[in-house]
Amino acid sequence: MSEVRVRFAPSPTGYLHIGGLRTALYDYLFAKNKGGKYILRIEDTDRTRYVDDSIENLIKSLEWSGVVHDEGVFIENGEIVQKGEYGPYIQSERLDIYKKYIDDLIEKGHAYYCFCNKERLDKIREEQKEKGLMLGYDGYCRNISIEEAKKRIEAGEEYVVRLRLPENRDIVFNDLIRGEISINTSDLDDQVLLKSDGFPTYHLAVVVDDHLMKITHVVRGEEWLPSAPKHAYLFEAFGWEAPEFVHLPTVLNKEKKKLSKRHGDVAVEDFRAKGYLPEGLINYLALVGWSPENNQEFFTMEELEKEFSFDRVSKTGGVFDKDKLDWVNGHY
Ligand code: GLU
Repeated sequence: MSEVRVRFAPSPTGYLHIGGLRTALYDYLFAKNKGGKYILRIEDTDRTRYVDDSIENLIKSLEWSGVVHDEGVFIENGEIVQKGEYGPYIQSERLDIYKKYIDDLIEKGHAYYCFCNKERLDKIREEQKEKGLMLGYDGYCRNISIEEAKKRIEAGEEYVVRLRLPENRDIVFNDLIRGEISINTSDLDDQVLLKSDGFPTYHLAVVVDDHLMKITHVVRGEEWLPSAPKHAYLFEAFGWEAPEFVHLPTVLNKEKKKLSKRHGDVAVEDFRAKGYLPEGLINYLALVGWSPENNQEFFTMEELEKEFSFDRVSKTGGVFDKDKLDWVNGHY
């Protein structure tokens, strides 16, 4: 088998969330367990959500936690530097690469130019809502030829590029925690792949990068599970082998709701500032969603690296209980 390569791919939208650190930790532990590589890639193609200094903050929080990557984006002497042969690892520096692959998909008929403006899209949405239909693009621009589209673009019309999904086909993929998942394309939308600002959407960028960076396991939060069929299809359309998918259960609060700022500290930085020890936080977080084979409660990072596997990650959300964290932290 080829070398295991996993990536943590945060968007620079603020601080590192406790749930993000748990994902990064499982990426790291799996890579170390398999003698593989753990890569940090920055997914900053949604320019509306970009927050200044968040790349630096993310990396500082990861370094403080000891969940340090082998390849990707680092901070050295206060500067952002990138290391590894598959870079750049910051997506906004890869626009030419995405453009090339978008053109390739269009040529092959797997994607098409769409000129529908917001007014039209809002209108079809309203109609679909009224009729109780699934909300989504109605395929209006599907049959515009490439030649005609190019003329319209030259004339200055705004456009996006959409994925052309085949009609009524099952997309089947495997998730290492959830097993086989099958979805019919009639339940999916012709996803936008390239936006009118020239930036790719997350869906295109993630597939192109996971392929080019030789990622073997895509490990991420389960909020991305609905996107996975689109990604599985994109891998197929490009003619690439898809990686293994692993969607991790969400980190919940004690009320079993998604952990959010309203319920107290959620930023790794908050815990650092309050004097928590990284070893205590990591020990506790490893157990939010994963259980060891015996009842061991305290682990060093090396022990976690040895023990960790996705077989023992639960399918349901893990609860982040600050009282328990305090108890664990008190033992360090
Ligand atoms: N950029 C996504 C995020 O910020 C990561 C999704 C993925 O890992 O594929 O959560």
